[in-house]
Amino acid sequence: MTVVTRFAPSPTGTLHVGNVRTALHNWMWARKHGGRFLLRIDDTDLERSKEEHVTSIRADLAWLGLNYDGEERQSARFDLYEREFEKLKAAGRVYPCYETPEELDIRRKVLASRGLPPIYERKDPDAPVPGGVAPHWRFKLSYDAPITWTDMVRGDQSFDPKTMSDPVIRRADGSWLYLLPSVIDDIDMGITHVVRGEDHVSNTAAQAQMFEALGAVPPQFAHEALLVGTEGKLSKRLGSLGMGALRESGIEPMAIVSLLARLGTSDPVEPSTDVEALVATIDFARFGRAPARFDEAELELVNQKILHQRSYADVADRLPASITEARWNAIRPNLNALSEAADWTPIFEGPFTPPAPESESLAVLDAAAAAIASVEWDYQAWKSLTSAAKDASGAKGRALFLPLRRAVTGLDHGPDMGELLPLIDKDQVAQRLAHR
Ligand code: GLU
Repeated sequence: MTVVTRFAPSPTGTLHVGNVRTALHNWMWARKHGGRFLLRIDDTDLERSKEEHVTSIRADLAWLGLNYDGEERQSARFDLYEREFEKLKAAGRVYPCYETPEELDIRRKVLASRGLPPIYERKDPDAPVPGGVAPHWRFKLSYDAPITWTDMVRGDQSFDPKTMSDPVIRRADGSWLYLLPSVIDDIDMGITHVVRGEDHVSNTAAQAQMFEALGAVPPQFAHEALLVGTEGKLSKRLGSLGMGALRESGIEPMAIVSLLARLGTSDPVEPSTDVEALVATIDFARFGRAPARFDEAELELVNQKILHQRSYADVADRLPASITEARWNAIRPNLNALSEAADWTPIFEGPFTPPAPESESLAVLDAAAAAIASVEWDYQAWKSLTSAAKDASGAKGRALFLPLRRAVTGLDHGPDMGELLPLIDKDQVAQRLAHR
């Protein structure tokens, strides 16, 4: 059996970490099994679906490296839905309904006042049909047996169809709700595994019967616990943002992939640039039932660790021309985001004016300024400069190194000065040491 999975976003907005996680797990599962991963644009809601969102979904998946083996659009498949709908109609598995939303609402309230669950009550099929009203359509659940499946995350599931309402599948204007087209597509596209959020569990119960009514065996399901933010909801700065915002804030795609691959599993998050190795480890049995916590601080930490593994060749096309390989290697361990590399251009090449030195630093700076002309500008430069400044000023330790670091870089902390110094223009350094 070839594994076929799909990511089925509705193009009503941009992707956020929650749906990217769903996409990623579907992609990983297909890749792990040498299968196929499809992008299915769920755009039956023509009003709310926007082409710009389709474009950004594609771009985000490309940026994350989640390549897909085919793209389908539900809006191009209405003929198929019509044909399958007719079959269900002929088989008595869909039926027309004429209640207005107000009527349904009143009925729900009556049921609630009697302490009864708000389950839709089927009408007598022979009851007179109101004239001039276009019906909407419901799928008729079979009460013959409990609905059961073994979920790859949640284990054995069982629903009593009598406790469920027959779901509305089509509106009076002929437009489709999500449930039935999704099943028709999953069958038609040979989807073997559906990975999605646990908010779809009750949909699955209804859809399981739709698969059977259409003569198909349902796929395997993995319903994942939802992602929540550190404060219980996914609405903080990065969590609620789209991929575009994460990209702009300097987050590496592999940081997102590394984190979301493992979040909610019993395995530790490993900042990795090796996606193949990560793919091999996906296992739905290792996903927990509790909501997975998405923590921006964790994403930033993973991002840093990934950045620190990046070779110059990996990132050269995203760096300013001033950042050469040696410079990249020198600054890399101190970057939080790739975009910070650009902050180093003035430090390497000027123009850069360090902050005015404190008076107790002047002796060290004077000594270094006097010595620099005779310092050989190679990997020993920092050693030579500091030892000359030490001899002339008598300063040592922090009192020696900190004023020099500050004068050269404007910073109190940063890359190894021995590595950094010869990568900075010597005349620039001389000027900075003399700056008062
Ligand atoms: N368009 C649906 C959604 O975004 C797809 C759900 C599914 O994976 O079946 O929720």
